[in-house]
Amino acid sequence: MKKGLLVILSGPSGVGKGTVRKYIMSNFKLDLSYSISMTTRAKRDKEVDGVDYYFVSKEEFQRNIDEDNFLEWEEFVGNRYGTPKDKVEELRNQGKHILLEIEINGAQEVLRKINDDRVISFFLMPPSLDALEARIRRRKTESEDIIQERLQKGVKEMGMTEQYDHIIINDDIARASQEIVDLIKLKIKKGR
Ligand code: 5GP
Repeated sequence: MKKGLLVILSGPSGVGKGTVRKYIMSNFKLDLSYSISMTTRAKRDKEVDGVDYYFVSKEEFQRNIDEDNFLEWEEFVGNRYGTPKDKVEELRNQGKHILLEIEINGAQEVLRKINDDRVISFFLMPPSLDALEARIRRRKTESEDIIQERLQKGVKEMGMTEQYDHIIINDDIARASQEIVDLIKLKIKKGR
């Protein structure tokens, strides 16, 4: 059986990766599963444990590192985030497609580790820096220090696009999602 596609959706914090991912998952029938990450970050009000993330203590996260349970993990503005590897491998081996929504360093790590031709990577780019800042602020979930840190990181990350298959401008969620879905469908077709 052909391995399922591994879809990597990356880009700076606040660019709208989560919104685009949710839009794709609920508006298109792609038979795509979302890989739920583990994090030490505190849960935001609207987030649900086991749906948005597995929220764990620093100790539990460290235990998972020690047991080699992550495909990749990264520290991002004071918190740790990681992709549990079991599910990704299991689903891909069953021929199912899976989507990772992760930051830039983690995406590079995955691209280094998995270099089969069943990977497709997207860098989601804000239409402007002002738009990125406005999005982070609109979320109203971070303190000013963290907003500044995320923004500075975002500026650097916007220059780290060369490893990606596609750069998508998130000027409009429906349009950007459609562009991503069309490229995923093309890749699925090619692999048959
Ligand atoms: P947030 O705190 O805004 O939910 O996430 C911060 C950043 O970490 C975002 O860019 C998000 O995409 C990324 N992220 C979420 N899960 C993972 C993961 O498992 N691995 C890595 N490397 N980054 C992640």
